[in-house]
Amino acid sequence: MIYDKKAETMKDSARKKLQLSRLKDIVSYCYDKVDFYRKKMDAVGVKPSHIKKLTDIEKLPFTTKIDLRDNYPFGLFAVPMRDIVRIHASSGTTGKPTVVGYTKHDIVTWSEVMARTLACCGATQDTVIQNAYGYGLFTGGLGVHYGAERLGATVIPVSVGNTPRQLMLMEDFKADLLCSTPSYALHIAEVAKEKGIDLKKLPLKFGAFGAEPWSNEMRKEIEARLNVRANDIFGLSEVIGPGVSSECEVQKGLHIFDDHFLPEIIDPNTFKPLPYGKDGELVFTTLTKEGFPVLRYRTKDITSLDPTPCACGRTHVRMQRISGRTDDMLIIRGVNVFPSQIESVLVQIEGAEPHYQIIVRREGALDELEVQVEVNEKLFSDEVRKLEALEKKIVTEIESVLGITVRVKLIEPKGIKRSEGKAQRVIDMRKEQGAK
Ligand code: ADP
Ligand code: ZN
Repeated sequence: MIYDKKAETMKDSARKKLQLSRLKDIVSYCYDKVDFYRKKMDAVGVKPSHIKKLTDIEKLPFTTKIDLRDNYPFGLFAVPMRDIVRIHASSGTTGKPTVVGYTKHDIVTWSEVMARTLACCGATQDTVIQNAYGYGLFTGGLGVHYGAERLGATVIPVSVGNTPRQLMLMEDFKADLLCSTPSYALHIAEVAKEKGIDLKKLPLKFGAFGAEPWSNEMRKEIEARLNVRANDIFGLSEVIGPGVSSECEVQKGLHIFDDHFLPEIIDPNTFKPLPYGKDGELVFTTLTKEGFPVLRYRTKDITSLDPTPCACGRTHVRMQRISGRTDDMLIIRGVNVFPSQIESVLVQIEGAEPHYQIIVRREGALDELEVQVEVNEKLFSDEVRKLEALEKKIVTEIESVLGITVRVKLIEPKGIKRSEGKAQRVIDMRKEQGAK
């Protein structure tokens, strides 16, 4: 089901026209209301009147997470506090959280784009949504919640954690759609198995999973274990929260709700715009936000854009699933590697479980990677010889796919900490080692 047919299937020319008029408005708005944007634009001699076509956006300076931290907590808000009705903060995966604020109208916009997202993931007014994203400062919980109500679905605000209870509610309340991080979805499936609950017998059909990178191979694993169609949903608090983009039933890229969030892809080193299809850093300008608008916000997330029409009928530009953040990119003897690439290899290896962690150490002048991966129960109780063969296989597969040699450490079943929110895949020891 398409939630907002008019907005989501708009012709390219009409959407571009709408984007341009909104872009002009938001640039003027930021220039007038936020000292930070005015100073930055003045510094490069750009005035709102210089925005005459969509590509004129390239004249504007970028905004980064550092700018947000420098203006902590409320320095970039465009309205007085009396007009802010809600505060959220990013999860602080990479440091001190950044704070964002919403006006009443922003909450409506957010609910709309989240209703679109949930509809993309299979929800209708008849759907029971189990919302296992955390409620609180994190945008996941309340974002899904408001979107579900806007859509007219039934939402179970269970929040994250207490997995046995999640399963009990799932059975008793007959949830059709589960919202959580992909790593938590996997954990729910694992606990179900332990408790002898057959997920295939439950009504659950759909999953809306996001907030952390996951590979397409991991998707297949989750689809098989939970017996759902698992869709990727994407967002970040600085832009609005979840609801920035979502996969539809076609599962070939995530539709960006680009009547509200204008995307660009840039080369993270030269800052030059990159054409459709090329991988680079995703940058967003919010076109309609009032409380906390952002101009050319650098997400650090790596993806590419695809403007071709989608079989679902939506005309929003699509982004590919995020391969990783520039922060998470490891450079191992000159080769760039994202944890998600290692994940996609591991998930396909028989005997290895989709639970892993990557340890990075500096040895001499070189970065060394150790991949810790769980083995399944059966193999673990098997002969040592088989474990050794598995270890070797993982080393060889990673080498043939990624071209790097890693160390592999097999971990006993359940030996890797399960996550309820965002999984921590990389443990970087280099800082403690004084390498950086
Ligand atoms: P933080 O930057 O502290 O983690 P947020 O909670 O706002 O703050 O998380 C936003 C980030 O989460 C995104 O920039 C992206 O890196 C990651 N993310 C969100 N959804 C996805 C997804 N579907 N796939 C990959 N990464 C995602
Ligand atoms: Zn589509």
